[in-house]
Amino acid sequence: MQKIGNIGVLTSGGDAPGMNAAIRAVVRAAIYHQCRIFGIRCGYKGLIEDQIEEMFSPSVSNVIQTGGTLLKSARCPEFRQKEGRHKAWENLKKHGIEGLVAIGGDGTFRGAQELSQEYGMPVIGIPATIDNDISGTEYTIGYDTALNTIVEAVDKIRDTASAHNRLFFIEVMGRDAGFLTLRGGIASGAEAVMIPELQNDEEKLRNFLESSYKKAKTSSIVLVAEGDEVGGALRLAEKVQKEYPEYDVRVTILGHIQRGGSPSAFDRVSASRMGVSAVEALLRGEKNVMVGLINGQIALTPLLKSVKEKKQLNRQLLELLDILSI
Ligand code: ADP
Repeated sequence: MQKIGNIGVLTSGGDAPGMNAAIRAVVRAAIYHQCRIFGIRCGYKGLIEDQIEEMFSPSVSNVIQTGGTLLKSARCPEFRQKEGRHKAWENLKKHGIEGLVAIGGDGTFRGAQELSQEYGMPVIGIPATIDNDISGTEYTIGYDTALNTIVEAVDKIRDTASAHNRLFFIEVMGRDAGFLTLRGGIASGAEAVMIPELQNDEEKLRNFLESSYKKAKTSSIVLVAEGDEVGGALRLAEKVQKEYPEYDVRVTILGHIQRGGSPSAFDRVSASRMGVSAVEALLRGEKNVMVGLINGQIALTPLLKSVKEKKQLNRQLLELLDILSI
């Protein structure tokens, strides 16, 4: 393995459960391979402001089970400018950091790519976002935990929906992608989903409401991705209530509970695998790639490709929902 002395690690952009498990794996793997490891607080903001401190094995004791990120995260408009990235580079140099592990979503990877293009800094990305909207990996860290949170919440709502024969519209996170909504819908037995990738979802919903009313379903659950063109669960519910006064319509917006909580076993294991692989990739001389999981195996994808390619929804899951919601 190639000798890299000092490695930096940061979390950036939207937080996701399992980020701590990833930081832990990066720190421990770096130390295992006899490197020094530096934690950068508050993402690119901390890099620009020199919030950089060396970490040791005990720095990540007792964190694998915690949500959020011990390194904190922040949005940093200054890093989008050349001058901001120059300050970041100066601070990396000051601490002798020769390789960077960036844990975050596509914005984080775009920033990492810019930094590495301008200054030749090798960067390895670890995909962490509850939205699962990153190409080059079947699962992003945080997605499985968020899914479990959604399913638990929807199960509870279904109890009350069925007691009162109600139609519930439940809004799920996902600005541009319906992965959480679709898989959450299948796992919770939802009758329909509204997602940005589907053009005819409103028409499908109408068909469903007309046929389900005739079949006298006792209650119905519709999951709505926040980014769907219907304008969110509230707008959709208002419209449906007007058109179908026979339904008793209610709305729940799940909101930020979807981001929090202790990571699932699946997210902890994925984060651990990705963290160790990221350090080993840096030591092998890899640069500007993202560590992902494809068919259960670690796979590397160029950072640029992972942000430019739109991840496709699994169409088989859509068909499954149609079959199971009759
Ligand atoms: P996420 O990584 O979860 O997608 P953001 O999109 O907010 O989150 O990106 C996180 C940070 O990455 C931003 O605050 C900014 O500092 C940096 N970033 C995002 N896009 C770019 C870009 N095109 N060039 C440079 N930096 C960027």
